[in-house]
Amino acid sequence: MSSSNVVDLISLIYSFIRAERDRYEREKGVIWVTDLVRCPLKRVYEDRYPDLVLQEIFKPSLIIGTLVHRGLENLLRELVREYSVETEVEGSRDVILDDGSAVSIRGRLDMLLVRDFERVAVEIKSSRSDKNIPQKHHVDQVRAYNWLMDLSGSILLYVTPARVTQFYIEDRMDDSEVVSRVTSKKAPRYSWECSYCIFSVMCPYKIEI
Ligand code: SF4
Repeated sequence: MSSSNVVDLISLIYSFIRAERDRYEREKGVIWVTDLVRCPLKRVYEDRYPDLVLQEIFKPSLIIGTLVHRGLENLLRELVREYSVETEVEGSRDVILDDGSAVSIRGRLDMLLVRDFERVAVEIKSSRSDKNIPQKHHVDQVRAYNWLMDLSGSILLYVTPARVTQFYIEDRMDDSEVVSRVTSKKAPRYSWECSYCIFSVMCPYKIEI
């Protein structure tokens, strides 16, 4: 079995995944919506231990998730007729913290559906199980998007081996909830997080559930 002259697909996929990750490079004064819905210590550890983070980027389950996103975005572009469809739509909004400093909250929607004054986000989630969907942190994520981009609501679209389904979330965060999430030191933010955290091997705040 020789692969000397054949195109190296794995290398291409790796470069693609790496470039996708680099789109979320940190910028001073910018907080991504995804940071509002995960343990705040992860952001600190990611800066401190970047090699640990890089070890994760070629995880097959994450690659499958990326492919599901790409495939669904393309398919829904073809299927959705009654709305105009945009993919990978970015928005940002500033909030003032209690100490008077400003931070910019930034988010990127998988899809934005627009019809007249109706603006609906689609957030795609793929997972191995349909247990407890819609998950609290996913609902919080789209509540943040509803606030960030002044949306009518967001569809959480789940693709799992047991269920393909959607939930429509109209609730939204407000400025004070966003500020409290930016400044919160509660670690972990959700009780299950440590079980899936790459930093759990060193973190003094790890909890077992
Ligand atoms: S182990 Fe738990 S508390 Fe520590 S960084 Fe990870 S999620 Fe946060």
